[in-house]
Formats: sequence, structure tokens, C-alpha cells
Amino acid sequence: MKVIAADLVLDGTGGALEKGAVILDGARIAGVGRQADIGRPEGAEVIETPPGATLLPGLIDAHVHLAYSGVPNRRRMIAEAMDQSYPQVALRAARRARDSLLHGMTALRDMAAPGGIAIDLAAAVAQGDVVGPRILACGRGLTVTGGHMDNAPFPDHTQARGMHHPCDGADGFRKGVRVEARRGAGFIKINSCVGLHNRPGTWWRPEMTVAEMEAAAEEAHAQGLTVAAHTSGGPPLTDTVRAGIDCVEHAHWIDDDCIEEMVARGTFLVPTLLVNERSFEVPLAEQGLARVSRWSEAAREAKWVSLARARAAGIRVGAGTDAGFMLPHATMFWRELALLVEGGFTPGEAIVAGTSVNADILGIEAGRLAPGRLADLLVVEGNPLEDIGLLGQAARLQVWKDGAQVAAGGRLTTTWPQGRAA
Ligand SMILES: [Zn+2]
Repeated sequence: MKVIAADLVLDGTGGALEKGAVILDGARIAGVGRQADIGRPEGAEVIETPPGATLLPGLIDAHVHLAYSGVPNRRRMIAEAMDQSYPQVALRAARRARDSLLHGMTALRDMAAPGGIAIDLAAAVAQGDVVGPRILACGRGLTVTGGHMDNAPFPDHTQARGMHHPCDGADGFRKGVRVEARRGAGFIKINSCVGLHNRPGTWWRPEMTVAEMEAAAEEAHAQGLTVAAHTSGGPPLTDTVRAGIDCVEHAHWIDDDCIEEMVARGTFLVPTLLVNERSFEVPLAEQGLARVSRWSEAAREAKWVSLARARAAGIRVGAGTDAGFMLPHATMFWRELALLVEGGFTPGEAIVAGTSVNADILGIEAGRLAPGRLADLLVVEGNPLEDIGLLGQAARLQVWKDGAQVAAGGRLTTTWPQGRAA
């Protein structure tokens, strides 16, 4: 048994304890309380943290793409996809996952990777072959032919096989779910409605039919998997929610009908605020663009309105960066939390989004400091409720996973992963 004591303990659900402590029993949390009350189990190792430190659950990024670097230039991204073998991509994905761990993330949800890369990486971490955060991976994203993930960035004379998973019709999507599930997907990703860039005023359009979405949801749920959807907004977003999709990503334009449906069904929202901001902060020359699109400008305005509505309605909002597209892995998760604060969340609520809500989106027993939960923890020097940016400073972090310290000060402190490596 171990006892970790800290000047401030945040439990991941909004609770805060001054002079708190957590008791660890192996990989699980056995108790949480004030240092004065909690006592010290006989023989327990007591771990003190620096004065003024805060103990909280490990952070979770609910929207990443480990197979991609985050280079903000579309042509360079395509070039990277063309000249790296899947094993090369997998090794780089492992590096990105490890870097995420050093930056306080003890779990990630991978939102589409080719070649089974993220699925196999998730298994390698769980198996103890690789040091990294827990990963929930969808495999390839399901998309209609010619859809959001199948919009042919590659010329006719090249073949990019297996990057994404085109499906058509209800039976096609049902089979798509079965194929990704057979490959080992931990959840299913679909692309249900997308941005419409050339019709100002109507910035979204449906891509999947209602029958296709319902078939995907029904088949996934029958296999015990949740479904997340890339969405844009408007009535097609409401249709997505009504079709039984568990978590909507991006969702820039959320109308009142949709809010009502999301509340009734308990649908999660991952607004990915940062990826949209990146269109404005990365120099245009670096993006290879002449100007920021009008769609991005409209989405940038709408997302704050939608976020405020979602918060007011009590919709459970998670935090995801879209790292791998327009932004690098590991270093920017804290900015998504800071943007939630800019959008009206308290720092405490932003931390809840990045811990317990995200854990529920992934369906993992982490994200909360409570008895029985997995002991995935973060110690940060300072108080993130006063300065959320502290969570982005790896030098100030100690990271614990499965009840063991794995990183501190931006370096691994374990040379061999926890788990059952042979
Ligand atoms: Zn994404």
C-alpha cells in the first residue's frame, strides 16, 4: 500500500480537499480523504509531494490521431502518409503516446488510424510491451464512399489502401462495424455529417443516411461498443444524436432540438476547440493557404455559442484536441482545457471534462479519485485551479499509472512498463 499526500486533492468530479491524501492498493485506489482523517495503513509507504502541489486524476485526451504528426500543411501530411510504412508509423505513434504520458495523459482515445496501428499499440501498452497511456482505439473510421474520410487526397494513379473504411448502405455500415470490431476496435468512429464549405449560411450537410447511422449504432451496441461521430451541426447533427450515437465530436452548430435530444439521451460532446483555433494561429504560409476559409471563420464563431448552450443544458462535455491534425501530440492538451475556460467553464469544470467525463466517454475505470478506481494520477506543482496552464508544464508533473510512478519532470521514471510482458 502507498499513501500520496498533497496540499490540494481534486477528485475529478468537482470535489476538492485541502491537505488531502489518496491510499493506493496495487493498481487501484483504496481510499481518499483528508490527511488528518485518513490514517496510514500499517506498513504503507508514504509519498510526500512538493509544498503547494495538487493531486488529481491523470488527464485524458478524448480525441487524438496517433498515426499522424500534426503537421499543419495538408500536402505535407499527404506526403507523410505516402512515404512511411505502417511499422514506421506505429513506432512513431508509440513515441507520441509516450510523450503524452510524460505530459500527464494517462489515457487517450484514438479517433482513426490506418493499418490497425492504434489498436495494436493499445494492446501493446495493455500487454506491457510499450510504456504509454491506456489507449482506446477505433481502428479505421467508417465513412461513405467519397465522404469526409474518403475524399481522395491521393491522385488516381496512386493507391492508398486501408487508410480509412468506406461503407455504403445500412448493411455496408453494419459490416464495417463488424470488420473493425474483428480487428480489435475499442469503439466505432463514423463520419455522419460534415462541413459544407461553399454555401454560406448552411455550413453543414448530412453524409450518412439515418438508416446507415442506425445500423452502425445498433451493430456496435450489440457488440458492446460505443459509437463516436465526426459531425458539423444543424439538423444532420440532431439526426446523428437521434440515431443513438453516444458521443458527437466537433459539433460546431448545435441547435435547440439537438440540445433537447442530447440531454434526453445523455449524449456526450467533445467540442475540439483547439483544432479550429489552429486555423487562425498557424501562419498561413505554414499551412500552405492563401487565407483562412470562411467555413473556419463561421465555425469559430458558432462553437462558443454551442458550448455555452451545452454547458447551460447540463450536457456532459469532454475534452479532446484532435492532436495529429493541425497540432502536435502531448504538449497542447492543457490548451483545450484553457479554451473550455475561455468558453465559460470554471477551471474546475475544465478539469472534470479532462478527467471523469473523458473516462466515461472511454468507458474506463479511471478519471476519478475514488475507492476502487484505477490509480492513474497526476501530481502538479502548484494549483491548476488558479493557473490551468500549469498542467502543460511537464517539468512540474509526476505521473502515476496503475498505482506506480511512470514519469516525473518530463522524463520516464520506469524503464519497464507495468503489466504482464513476457
Ligand atoms: Zn479527428
